[in-house]
Amino acid sequence: MTMLAITGGRVLRPDLTVTSADVLIDQDAGEIREIGTDLAGAADETLEAAESLVTPGFVNGHCHVAMTLLRGYADDKPLEAWLQEDIWPAEGELTAADVRAGAELGLVELIKSGTTAFADMYFHVPDVAVAVEEAGLRARLGHGIVTVGKDGEAAREDATTSLEIAREYDGAADGRISTAFMPHSLTTVGSEYLAEFVPEAREAGVPVHYHANETVDEVAPIVDEHGQRPLEYAAEHGLLEPEDFVAHGVHVDESEIDLLAAAGTGVIHCPASNMKLASGMAPVERMLEAGVTVGLGTDGAASNNDLSMLDEARDAAMLGKLAADDASAVPAEAVVDMLTRGSADAIGLESGRLEAGAPADLAVIDLEQPHLTPRHDLVSHLAYAAAAADVRHTVCDGQVLMRDREVLTLDEAGVRERAVETAASLSARVE
Ligand SMILES: [Zn+2]
Repeated sequence: MTMLAITGGRVLRPDLTVTSADVLIDQDAGEIREIGTDLAGAADETLEAAESLVTPGFVNGHCHVAMTLLRGYADDKPLEAWLQEDIWPAEGELTAADVRAGAELGLVELIKSGTTAFADMYFHVPDVAVAVEEAGLRARLGHGIVTVGKDGEAAREDATTSLEIAREYDGAADGRISTAFMPHSLTTVGSEYLAEFVPEAREAGVPVHYHANETVDEVAPIVDEHGQRPLEYAAEHGLLEPEDFVAHGVHVDESEIDLLAAAGTGVIHCPASNMKLASGMAPVERMLEAGVTVGLGTDGAASNNDLSMLDEARDAAMLGKLAADDASAVPAEAVVDMLTRGSADAIGLESGRLEAGAPADLAVIDLEQPHLTPRHDLVSHLAYAAAAADVRHTVCDGQVLMRDREVLTLDEAGVRERAVETAASLSARVE
């Protein structure tokens, strides 16, 4: 058995206390063996963490990682116009190789910002999976289904693809890849397809992930057509199970918050995307009070425009206070919990906590920075002041993915170069 020790750091424990300790990792099992003092002697390899905070790796609960190719491609528009005029035409041109190039760029960005796991909805998923396997990250992947505007055959093919991907890739990359069945949203997938395919997803044993209540335009058509709130409609179509998770949940009313809490369905809050597209302010404090499992996600880079979960944490705290009109709402502790355990629980992973027996997914943050000085409260620093560039080392499944800011699993320069070429060729084709 090969052991790795993270030595001399301050370790963020599941109860959000911080203690000086070493972390001993069984690399073969990909698990934390022990957290304690003087553990370096038991290790084959060490990762130095003096003057650093060792935190659970961040979990990005909702992403479209290959959309890094569209970063800065179209900004400053509302969701519907942005999707129809810019994003969907560009995505229509994306080849499998393009998606691979975009995914690799996104994965380098995730590793460099301390994220060790993410949930991703996109297409050409086999190419995303190859990139995830190579990068060493943990991911729950799925093919996003859209049936509106398609004939019956094309719509069924899309749903079938999502189901086949979910079956085939669950457990891939030595278990680092898991999957979900992913209808894009309640308004872009017809109810007849939900009725036909959701039971098959249950049979396959995979969760369901979809966008829900992101904008008022996503709520009104369901209320008008079915006389139900969207999440009531979702529950009726079997889409509100404990293993399921929805993205956004901006425009949820009290009855829907109660439904989510009772069902145990997770919500991935994406504050940056919600602010940038002016979608609205999710009632995060109310959801937390009601006992809903809330995680954080960046959404795609085109609506964010980066994949830093530390930015997302800060945005969640700020927006949560504004939404509740209360400075004590969504405090630092709640945000750090959402950033790690909350997201992991919502998307059905065991990571997000540093304790013996937990997956060895962690990030080491350099505290010797002016913006992290002095150190009254490291949980506060993580929520409000730390930045992606402060991450020194990233470890996932016991493997070191980044050491002293050098990504070890992907060739960062090559990935960036391919992304630049791919994005240029894509823009030219769309023109
Ligand atoms: Zn999304």
